[in-house]
Amino acid sequence: MSSNLPVNILLVDDKPENLMVLESILDDPSICFFKATSGNDALAMILEHDFAVVLLDVQMPHMDGFEIAELMRSSEKSKRIPIIFVTAISKDARQVFKGYETGAVDYLFKPLDPAILRNKVSVFIELYKQKRSLEQTARTLERIVTELDLANRKILEQQQSLIEEERLKMLLQMAGATAQDLRQPLDVLLGGIAMLEKDLEDPELLSDHMRIIKDAGATIDNTINRMQVFQIFETKTTEDVRGIHNIERHLSILSVESSENDFEIIKGMLIDSTNIIFRRVSTIADAIRLLKIEHYDLIMMDFRFPDGNGIDFLETMRKEAIDVPSVVITGCGDEIIATRMIKLGAYDYIPKSKISPITLLRIISNTIQKAELKKTALQAQAKMAEMSTRDELTGLYNRRYFSEALDREVARAMRFRSALVLCIVDLDFFKLINDTYGHPAGDAVLSKMGRLLKDVIRESDLICRYGGEEFAIILPNTSPEKAVIGCERLRNRIGGYDFTYGDTIIHVTLSVGLADLDRLDYKTSENLISSADKALYIAKQRGRNQVVYRGSI
Ligand code: GH3
Ligand code: MG
Ligand code: MG
Repeated sequence: MSSNLPVNILLVDDKPENLMVLESILDDPSICFFKATSGNDALAMILEHDFAVVLLDVQMPHMDGFEIAELMRSSEKSKRIPIIFVTAISKDARQVFKGYETGAVDYLFKPLDPAILRNKVSVFIELYKQKRSLEQTARTLERIVTELDLANRKILEQQQSLIEEERLKMLLQMAGATAQDLRQPLDVLLGGIAMLEKDLEDPELLSDHMRIIKDAGATIDNTINRMQVFQIFETKTTEDVRGIHNIERHLSILSVESSENDFEIIKGMLIDSTNIIFRRVSTIADAIRLLKIEHYDLIMMDFRFPDGNGIDFLETMRKEAIDVPSVVITGCGDEIIATRMIKLGAYDYIPKSKISPITLLRIISNTIQKAELKKTALQAQAKMAEMSTRDELTGLYNRRYFSEALDREVARAMRFRSALVLCIVDLDFFKLINDTYGHPAGDAVLSKMGRLLKDVIRESDLICRYGGEEFAIILPNTSPEKAVIGCERLRNRIGGYDFTYGDTIIHVTLSVGLADLDRLDYKTSENLISSADKALYIAKQRGRNQVVYRGSI
């Protein structure tokens, strides 16, 4: 990039026409010509501008070319500017230039050979461009090294407050390695410049040095590019994640962490999130005590405590019906434990080795969102259950619906003075069925029972699941005698039925207690239920598998 910038050349000759000749020979859009007709003018320009080369006429009035060169040598700013003496002195008198044989000096003899002039000037221009580009690279390098230095220092400062030692080490190593990567080509480059200055006279050596310098430059360029890519990636990730996981609402987090140091590290990582309030306890007992009296949005827990481990903690929480989302912070290799804890109700886990402000924020934000979703889902479920009138297992009406329906039927029977019978059906020794065949088999029987009972009763009757293995049947406009007949039919049907569960055949009997509204002194739903319950009790007492109706009870 810097090689495209114009290059300044100073032409010094007391005769303006000579200056014009020089300029026309060297004419090039990338060269910016400065012309001076006296030593004083030349020195003034040299002080003000930066020149790739000065073409100096030797024979001039007042101050000749050598005097100007001497003065240039005495100033720090101009002492390294290459000079080409232009002179009419014959080639045989070259000893005149003896003092100038070393360093960036050359000479041209009049009459000028345009090709030689261009050639000599172009060598200096090329050198100048290289020097300028190297200076530019050196400046960039200096800036980068300062940045690296700063980054290094920052990392070192943060080291105290970071758990993620591995990552840190890697960053430090990268910074160190990058500095190392730069050091070597930089040395080559500086060495190359020194050699250039030394071997100006030898074009072959010059081109060798140039090649070395170019290679070193390319290596440095590569390294810088790599570092820039790394920097861009790092910043972008940070911004992205912060953007997504910005925690806006106030959160109170209970940290169950036996190590004060680990707690401070985690707290330190979330120091920028002013919306988070932390409280730490170190034992399960203290955590449970606090969780019972204070509200927390999230629990961050270690795995080992003085009074148990994370699994004990989650189990105690469940027993105590404490429903606060929890995140487990695991040590190295504890992933299996973490998976177990998630099965027990933990929401997520972070290995200690992966902890960083970003991962912490992300996990907190995700967990809170998950917990809120779960709460909404549970509320929706409860609402649906409340609205539902059906029992899931049997497909019959549920007890809630039954209560309403019974109140309605009792009111109607009273109003129309019509008959109303209530039957409570209880399966016999059902506990034994569960114990013998297993609970799922018991469920299968109950499910099938629901369908069978529904098939047996009349359209106008209403059946519901009254309890675990109890059913209630409301028989409007039915006399107790007819009801008894119906119940006997039902008892026989069920008693003779082969319930199946896989290959197993299960037989179940049932007992039924009947109550007649008409026979009650106080005709209420509660009394009707109680009367049917009493009859059922008698059926059980008498040996089960029977229907009992005693009008007076
Ligand atoms: P009894 O003849 O005196 O009624 O004896 P029982 O064993 O049927 O009565 P008990 O009241 O002692 O036990 C009722 C059993 O019904 C116990 C319970 O496990 C079972 N049960 C209740 N609801 C369900 C259910 O939804 N599924 C299954 N599989 N069993 C249930
Ligand atoms: Mg029962
Ligand atoms: Mg029973």
